[in-house]
Amino acid sequence: MDFRSDTVTKPTDAMRAAMARAEVGDDVYGDDPTVNDLEQWAAQQHGFEAALFTTSGTQANLLGLMAHCERGDEYLCGQQAHNYKFEAGGAAVLGSIQPQPIENNPDGTLDFAKLKAAIKPDDCHFARTKLLSLENTINGKVLPLAYLAEAREFVDQHGLSLHLDGARVYNAAVALDVDIKEIAQYFDSMTICLSKGLSAPIGSLLLGNKAFIAKARRLRKMVGGGMRQAGILAAAGKLALTEQVTQLKTDHQNAKKLAIGLSELAGFSVNPNFVETNIVFAKLDESVQIGQIAQQLKTDGITISPGNPIRFVTHKDVTSADIDLLLTKLAQYLK
Ligand SMILES: *Cc1c(COP(=O)(O)O)cnc(C)c1O
Repeated sequence: MDFRSDTVTKPTDAMRAAMARAEVGDDVYGDDPTVNDLEQWAAQQHGFEAALFTTSGTQANLLGLMAHCERGDEYLCGQQAHNYKFEAGGAAVLGSIQPQPIENNPDGTLDFAKLKAAIKPDDCHFARTKLLSLENTINGKVLPLAYLAEAREFVDQHGLSLHLDGARVYNAAVALDVDIKEIAQYFDSMTICLSKGLSAPIGSLLLGNKAFIAKARRLRKMVGGGMRQAGILAAAGKLALTEQVTQLKTDHQNAKKLAIGLSELAGFSVNPNFVETNIVFAKLDESVQIGQIAQQLKTDGITISPGNPIRFVTHKDVTSADIDLLLTKLAQYLK
């Protein structure tokens, strides 16, 4: 069992079967019926005009940022934002787009007064502020719908566009028990990772209006993301969105259970009430030799990412019984 991330999920049997029989064509020519179906269906399902199937969430974010911003433009984002911190600086390197990070609040939100102060006046000294990019979930935390509504008002007031890095936006929708459109409605563009808790082997989506997606499609070709018989992947991607969403609820219950169990271990501090989705963070006392424990767990076939705070992620390939075993082993090795 592997608690490092929900990216480790294997495709389901239904996905493998659908991949085997997927009708395919050359998607760069627009000929792949399975990709076309996924893009059209996903656009409608999330309340956007158009969608683009991409190789990864990183690529979907990059294309989104580059479709919104030209060279010398700027996007506002969180200091902890994946598309600032964990994407190798792609927007800056490949798009010549300047990130303007703002410290995230503990709940993952960004303060509107700080955002406002970071917007540059129209002056040749400054980059042109074009976009606000949010992330939901962020470190497992769900942004409240009321906050998203405020963010929409904020960008409208300041003439900016609004992008959502929604790698785990379905975890947010499941946690809030709302239709995905309740979240998507506030954004000009949104990404979704099909290959995390939703268990597709490969692929993400970028959603937006027709002109935006047409621009992103050109950029996707430019960065080498034009794929040929990609319907094999899109077939699994559609099942991610139609059959795997309910699994996330179980993942969230398992995360809560794990958090409660960890909170009872010596040297672990975690507040189970802060666990909203499938990610659990615990702070460790200095006395906890987590590197050594990780090696011992490895011999039991259990993989964790040692760190402090330490992060555990639940997903369809770890069961409630697996969590019991992890907790038992942790208690044993802590002694
Ligand atoms: C994983 C992740 C991405 C990137 O997705 P990849 O498919 O791994 O490139 C982007 N944003 C967030 C918030 C993520 O968690």
